[in-house]
Amino acid sequence: MFNFLTNSFYLTFDDFNFNATLLEGLYSMGYKTPTPIQQEAIPVVLEHHDIIACAQTGTGKTAAYLLPIIDHILKAETRHLNTLIIAPTRELALQIDQQIDGLGYFCSLSSIAIYGGNDGIAWSTQKHALQEGVDIICATPGRLIALLQAGDINFEHLQHLVLDEADRMLDMGFFDDIKTIVNYLPKKRQTIMFSATMPPKIRQLANQITNDAKQINIAISKPAAGIVQQAYILYDNQKEPLIRNILMQEEYPSVIIFSSTKDNVKLLEKTLRGIDRNVRAFHSDLDQAEREEIMRDFKSKRVHILIGTDILSRGIDVDGISLVVNYDAPGDPEDYIHRIGRTARASKAGVAITFVNPKDQFKFFKIESLMGIEVPKMPLPIELGVGPEFNPEKPRTDIRRGAGPNKGNPKRNFNKRPGTKR
Ligand code: AMP
Repeated sequence: MFNFLTNSFYLTFDDFNFNATLLEGLYSMGYKTPTPIQQEAIPVVLEHHDIIACAQTGTGKTAAYLLPIIDHILKAETRHLNTLIIAPTRELALQIDQQIDGLGYFCSLSSIAIYGGNDGIAWSTQKHALQEGVDIICATPGRLIALLQAGDINFEHLQHLVLDEADRMLDMGFFDDIKTIVNYLPKKRQTIMFSATMPPKIRQLANQITNDAKQINIAISKPAAGIVQQAYILYDNQKEPLIRNILMQEEYPSVIIFSSTKDNVKLLEKTLRGIDRNVRAFHSDLDQAEREEIMRDFKSKRVHILIGTDILSRGIDVDGISLVVNYDAPGDPEDYIHRIGRTARASKAGVAITFVNPKDQFKFFKIESLMGIEVPKMPLPIELGVGPEFNPEKPRTDIRRGAGPNKGNPKRNFNKRPGTKR
């Protein structure tokens, strides 16, 4: 897709030629565009290269390797145990397994999480599942070694080995365990290593288990120091009175408001027309000449308030923007940082305010986690009434599950793989 503001192309999920059922799964998970780590890693994994990637939790790193691996599996001529993912903790192993469930929801795909510390029934379920055959195993090192030593896993046809959070695994003392496990695997395989940091010991491990690996580094973005960040936790019907309140009370000479969709941008422009400021909407339905005129007027401060979608967040270089409002919370941390980075440019101060409705609370919490900061939650003006509590939970995966054919059965495809040879 072409970004007319930056004059450059960026990849969409449609560019990867993924299997149609996999695309359906990722879109139903609410993924719209690949995150930066996905843009970089997916093409490399699809090309069967080994990879050493430096990326933190929250960047979309799990899908960066799962998507191309699932695609390989779906395109394979015969199906065997294809992929081993090793993770440091049972929580992470389970989370990865759940993402496989989500992404592979419309595919015929089977996976299992294998981790220690549970009872004998779980042990025999895991053994039984392995005998029946699965495409992907997500395992913690200890339990995996126990199963390997008992001769319960056949890795003869393994194609991919993934080490997720490799630095944490080494911190937890799994260095030798990983080497033991690797000795059970075929030498000809694709090895993918993800780590939040790259200390020398990780490099040493990478040298031993990868082959001519490509390196990918996604630096964690941080917002500029001069930006004062604030958030309002509110209901949707409190957004409009609040934006009026903010724009009236404070003297912000130059404001950008981000909304989630083109239609919402247009609607908000209409809503704000009554206020005593020059407001314009910026969206892709305008022709190039109109867009240029609006940008000129915004730069010269004839237009005071500009409303747009994320197309406004990248590439526009206007100094003196005193306030950025996220009328709808952005989809991911990178978008958030790009949006709020429109203010406080060139060492000036600026304010970034985010409206967070109940649906966006978890998204916003993820953004805060990735940046490693807690954005102050501002009290709503009294006349707007009481807002919701900030109580971010896990995303509501049950909404998606309820819509699908295998509702309520987390390992729904297990043992049931239409059209595959076995
Ligand atoms: P991770 O960094 O793998 O822990 O992913 C963090 C969160 O981002 C998970 O909840 C993913 O489901 C979500 N996620 C991954 N890729 C995307 C994407 N392209 N668009 C939106 N959300 C994503």
